[in-house]
Amino acid sequence: MRSVSSVTLPAELVQEPGNLPDHCSRHGRPAAKQADFPLPVKKRPASSASLTNNAFSAASKATDRAKRPRALLMKGWPLCQACVHSRTMWLTTTFVLFFGGLVAFFGALGVQIALDDPPVNTLALLAMIGFVAMVAAALPSYLASHARLTKATPTPDGDSVIVIDPSDEFRSGLPV
Ligand SMILES: [Zn+2]
Repeated sequence: MRSVSSVTLPAELVQEPGNLPDHCSRHGRPAAKQADFPLPVKKRPASSASLTNNAFSAASKATDRAKRPRALLMKGWPLCQACVHSRTMWLTTTFVLFFGGLVAFFGALGVQIALDDPPVNTLALLAMIGFVAMVAAALPSYLASHARLTKATPTPDGDSVIVIDPSDEFRSGLPV
């Protein structure tokens, strides 16, 4: 068994096309396509800095936040056939759940208003199912995300990207 370890890639490297390996980071299979996509930069966790809340530190924190990029744009990230398939499948599921839910929810509402003697219980149930489906769409949406597929996360300062336990093929394809 391989031990779990991550690699840190400088932001300059991943934001220039042509620097990344030709095997995907998740499966280690040959890339079916090179994808460009933004990875959101996660907020820095509340640190000890919040203890010192004088005006100066608040101001410097605000500047710090303003300078930090909200997302890093990956250029030419390798995605294999399995990655592409998984993304397409989960995006479709997200779409169907969300818009199916939306139609059920507002459809039930509309019928309720339009009819003189609406089947209230059935419509309430339909609206509820629609609402649950819309909320549940968050899960496939997460599964479809590039962040999950690539196992890559920008550091809070946006200076680099950490890939958690990438495939050996991806690792060995990195520039040294
Ligand atoms: Zn893959």
